[in-house]
Amino acid sequence: MIKLEQIHKSFGTLHVLKGIDLTIERGKTAVIIGPSGSGKTTLLRCLNLLEVPDTGTITLGSETIEFSADKQLKTSAVAGFRQQTGMVFQNYNLFPHLTAIQNVMEGQLTVKGIAKAEARKYAAAQLEKVGLADKADMYPHQLSGGQQQRVGIARAMAMDPDVLLFDEPTSALDPELVGEVLKVMKNLANEGMTMVIVTHEMQFARDAADLVIFMDEGAVIEAGTPEEVFDRTKNARTLQFLNKVQ
Ligand code: ADP
Repeated sequence: MIKLEQIHKSFGTLHVLKGIDLTIERGKTAVIIGPSGSGKTTLLRCLNLLEVPDTGTITLGSETIEFSADKQLKTSAVAGFRQQTGMVFQNYNLFPHLTAIQNVMEGQLTVKGIAKAEARKYAAAQLEKVGLADKADMYPHQLSGGQQQRVGIARAMAMDPDVLLFDEPTSALDPELVGEVLKVMKNLANEGMTMVIVTHEMQFARDAADLVIFMDEGAVIEAGTPEEVFDRTKNARTLQFLNKVQ
């Protein structure tokens, strides 16, 4: 489903991703952990081309893109990647002047050109799924952070992506609101959604991940089941990180 081969990305002289190789199978939940600045968010953003890798190859479903400095990206390939992925951002990124349901409808109307009545029906179903059917007509400022983030998840799902990408979805939330968002994410995982999640929530990674990916200094240090990475690792860098955060 998702395959990265030798992905490199620099910002100016800063070499952020140093040859990432990774495979994530359909229906699995992959959780990326690692110290701040290790390149986790950049890697995630490469999957929907919010960042464009310098070199390497990414396969997403039936679409493969080979990156190189002298090669122009094909518009159709970019559109293919965008269509297959939905992104949930740390700071929700909701439109403040639109209600919850209008936020969820927006992509269907503007990107997919779906008729308003149909878009509204589908958006309502997504809000129901994240437990916010009764908040459909509220504006973001009338919602708690946890509720806003659940609208963010409903909005991503409304586009019917093959893969949901989460960039530290709970790190802007007050501690008491984290649980409701993680619960929605766990439900999606149980339904077989393919998800790639950057998070500092180690307990969530233990409970929900099929694959835990530990990154440090722009490289994947190890990838395995939660048991392999959390309980049985012998890797010194992984152990050092886990000792600090657990
Ligand atoms: P993480 O998610 O693991 O904290 P990031 O991927 O956000 O790491 O960042 C990795 C490094 O790349 C950091 O040093 C960060 O400052 C740098 N970086 C990220 N995005 C940009 C950007 N758009 N321009 C310049 N440097 C960036």
